[in-house]
Amino acid sequence: MRKKVKVGNVTLGGGGVYIQTMLKKSARDIEGSIKQALELQEAGCEIIRAAVPEVRDVGLIYALKERLSIPVVADIHFDHNIALEAVKAGADKIRLNPGNLEPDKIEAVARECKKRGIPIRIGINAGSIEKEILQKHGVCAEALVESALRSAKLLEEIGFNDIILSVKASSVKMTIDAYRLLHKKCDYPLHIGVTEAGTKRIGILKSAAGIGSLLCDGIGDTIRVSLTDEPLEEIYAARDLLTALGLGKTPEIISCPTCGRTKTDIIKLVGEVEKLAAGIKKPLKIAVMGCVVNGPGEAREADIGIAFGGGDSGGVLFRKGEIVAKVSEDKILEVLKKEIEGLL
Ligand code: SF4
Repeated sequence: MRKKVKVGNVTLGGGGVYIQTMLKKSARDIEGSIKQALELQEAGCEIIRAAVPEVRDVGLIYALKERLSIPVVADIHFDHNIALEAVKAGADKIRLNPGNLEPDKIEAVARECKKRGIPIRIGINAGSIEKEILQKHGVCAEALVESALRSAKLLEEIGFNDIILSVKASSVKMTIDAYRLLHKKCDYPLHIGVTEAGTKRIGILKSAAGIGSLLCDGIGDTIRVSLTDEPLEEIYAARDLLTALGLGKTPEIISCPTCGRTKTDIIKLVGEVEKLAAGIKKPLKIAVMGCVVNGPGEAREADIGIAFGGGDSGGVLFRKGEIVAKVSEDKILEVLKKEIEGLL
């Protein structure tokens, strides 16, 4: 049983997996940041983090709290005074990298957070492990975990237990090993992700491998797909990853890869079906299959499925496992649209 920790209106450790990203506008650009944050919230971001580089940037936290309904996390490095001001501004969580702060400064922040019931995420990255730990282990999973638990202990000693931990590395293997070890050694909720994962194409693959493996092990309460790209891309990727693992809140589209038996333009059709499904916040299964070889099986397992029979015969429409109609090819999109709407 994981410890439950509340972050604003979200409870971590209770079995759900929540999507997170960071704002990528300057903290001084309050209007731009708000616009970006609202888009991210609309796209499915469930916890949003903002870097607060200086005390005067805390204005962004006030503004985000006023306009968003999702929890707001203040990301603090180097100056504990910023954390103290962010707490006053109503941040729902403070993210610290303890390697960057003196122990007495971390304690001061923890005391203020405790007074207001705000949790702290201790975010350890491979690049910020303490020197003594590095001398002992080098950069490895054990070092990440030792660093995280050492910082957690510092907070526990002053009676602060609303802790969330993360131990990210840019290596997928090291990230997986570190989280597996940490999961065994503590019961705090874990924020998981592969850090500095790269640009969209490789970053999504690294995140899918790392975050996906951990979620399959039942490890992880919040996720971030870190991409060198727009934050909306991080949200889309995180949403798709959860859907791929059966943990999502959006439609899953099952489609055959096509082969020499395909008589219909399945690639184009699936693209259109994806457009139909975009924006739906319900975990429906929609199957689009090219022929009778694997088609009926997959279509039958979906909420709505279409399996082509080959030639000019159009497709067979399945609803919840039952054949409900034969549909000519030119009517398929229209029929699928109606069927999807009927399930909302
Ligand atoms: S379902 Fe049929 S058309 Fe699609 S890949 Fe399989 S065999 Fe080929």
